[in-house]
Amino acid sequence: MLKVEGISTKIGKIDILHNIDMHVNSGEIISVIGANGAGKSTLLNTLSGLISPTSGKVFLDDVLISGLPAYKVIKKGLSLVPEGRQIFSNLTVKENLLLGMYSTYYREKHQIEEKLEKIFSMLPGLKKHINNLGGNLSGGEQQMLAIGRGLMSDPKIILLDEPSMGLAPKIVSEILEILTVIKQELGTMVILVEQNVKAALKIANRVYVIDQGRMILNGSAEEISQNPHVIRAYLGIK
Ligand code: ATP
Repeated sequence: MLKVEGISTKIGKIDILHNIDMHVNSGEIISVIGANGAGKSTLLNTLSGLISPTSGKVFLDDVLISGLPAYKVIKKGLSLVPEGRQIFSNLTVKENLLLGMYSTYYREKHQIEEKLEKIFSMLPGLKKHINNLGGNLSGGEQQMLAIGRGLMSDPKIILLDEPSMGLAPKIVSEILEILTVIKQELGTMVILVEQNVKAALKIANRVYVIDQGRMILNGSAEEISQNPHVIRAYLGIK
């Protein structure tokens, strides 16, 4: 379980996140939705140790992970798939994936091969590109690669920052369906940050709504999709 207690974060001198409480139960996919600039990326960057919170605590399976640098947070079992994918264009698909393992203890060749096979079995179409350069993949393939790389450290929880960005609707559905497969096959908890609210509501168990750095609503995906504020602000239906 991930427990976030009263997290506040500043960027420079500006308060961005205000007293954020949230939790993710084991086996859950959580979507975080909110407008541009609401603080979604800052939240993920804070949880993953890229930014230190000014107050509050984050626990993963009762282990305190807030205040640790990002490379230690990964070792504790939290992996971030960053906004914009951040694939290494000049490295092959396999090399990109192996970079995701640096924090683990897999060293034997057969363990590495097994791990890669498992990842490829969940990410359709990636294996045939194993020796191709990351920069030569399509946007959707790069997103799958970024997810694969995030899974290589065997995380307890994976955080995804706008995986649908710039992708065609059909590819978006494919990518989001993979999250359900990951949850079922690996038992990984998921936090999904998405501007594509309709798609995010479809796959989430529960949803948090962030507005100007504050969590203003949370509930089951069904409750949130019927909430008048959410309908007005994010679903574009009267
Ligand atoms: P988007 O969907 O546009 O990525 P978001 O919800 O992820 O938005 P954040 O990127 O977390 O929002 O930004 C939250 C607020 O923090 C915004 O007002 C943004 O302008 C500000 N902010 C983020 N990064 C910086 C920075 N490096 N310097 C100054 N302000 C920043």
